Amino acid sequence: LADEDRESRPRLMLMGLRRSGKSSIQRVVFHKMSPTETLFLESTSKINKDNIHSFIDFQVWDFPGQMDFFDSTFDTTAIFGEVGALVFVIDSQDDYMEALARLHSTVVAAYRVNPNITFEVFIHKVDGLSEDYKIDTQRDIQQTTTDELADAGLENVQLAFYLTSIYDHSIFEAFSKVIQKLIPQLPTLENLLNILCANSGIEKAFLFDVISKIYIATDSSPVDSQSYEICSDMIDVIIDISSIYGRAAIGAKSQGYLEDQQDDQDNWSQNQGRHDDFEDSNGGNGNGNHQRSGTNENYSQAVVGRGSRTPSLSNQSTQQQTAGNHEAFSVIKMGNGTVLYLREVNKYLALICLLRAETFEKQGLIDYNVHCFKEAMDQVFELKRAERTRREMEANQ
Ligand code: GDP
Repeated sequence: LADEDRESRPRLMLMGLRRSGKSSIQRVVFHKMSPTETLFLESTSKINKDNIHSFIDFQVWDFPGQMDFFDSTFDTTAIFGEVGALVFVIDSQDDYMEALARLHSTVVAAYRVNPNITFEVFIHKVDGLSEDYKIDTQRDIQQTTTDELADAGLENVQLAFYLTSIYDHSIFEAFSKVIQKLIPQLPTLENLLNILCANSGIEKAFLFDVISKIYIATDSSPVDSQSYEICSDMIDVIIDISSIYGRAAIGAKSQGYLEDQQDDQDNWSQNQGRHDDFEDSNGGNGNGNHQRSGTNENYSQAVVGRGSRTPSLSNQSTQQQTAGNHEAFSVIKMGNGTVLYLREVNKYLALICLLRAETFEKQGLIDYNVHCFKEAMDQVFELKRAERTRREMEANQ
């Protein structure tokens, strides 16, 4: 393993049998590939490391399904030693007995090396299953796995199970939950979001990683999938709108985004492009993302009222703070009396809130509270940076 792989960034590892859907998940979540394009992906046949330069730097290691841990050339310590989360993908449309055996041996091998790993099982491709069958499958997989681990004397190992599909938001939600476990500041972020909601009459607030559309924190009111979906779609809408009404100068930057999607690297720059699009969304640009054709469906009822009123609304003080950077801001009023409020928090993150139109009448208060929230966020991450520097200095002495 190269040194750079040993960096202490939280590492996420994707494993599972061949054709279980690992590469597809990676492409759809982190590289914005449309789900139907994954039909033509080649199956994974080597360890494929993918550094994701997002809010937290995590890595996806796409393992070929048929790897043998008990082979002496396989260095389990190096591989599992620093992993934060191990995601094991099971194809629920296939006979999964072999996958379960594989999951068992993987958990046993990984837990022996690193008991702090969180094990996450994605019961995948559930788009093909009926509701009843989904529940039965989950129950069966969960039961068999925990029984077998208990038989092996590992009853304390915690496994979390998720029903996922790349054809809907379930894969993003599952990833959100997985990633959240790897964020040490999560309780603080949740607390800040709770305070923001309580003081502004906001019903639900999500902190989104814009590139992946994973939410890294939310307030503690229950998450319903619909709220998550609509907020996540809002990111696409904002990017689309800013793309259409954009400045030609920035258009050049986003071209990379639309170019060749075959190559990994290109896909990554594509993401970067996407992110730039977002950052510049008050300036806009000439091209855009039209891959997710379903996106606008939810908005058929929506008044995209002040959708892209970004330029006029970045307030002075915040602009100064972000050293003259434009900050994305947008409001969408829906036909059903709900308002979606988006504000860029920093380079990677956006805050998206759901609130009632009546509450939004006090927009000044909400803007002010969101501004305070952003300042608190800056402090949280500034503290973390200071802490890291201090530790590094101590280590060097
Ligand atoms: P890998 O070998 O584990 O990397 O598997 P691939 O990513 O190559 O996926 C194998 C096949 O499963 C591809 O044809 C994908 O289109 C398909 N696939 C992946 N995810 C899903 C899903 O959520 N639902 C369905 N129906 N098919 C999927």
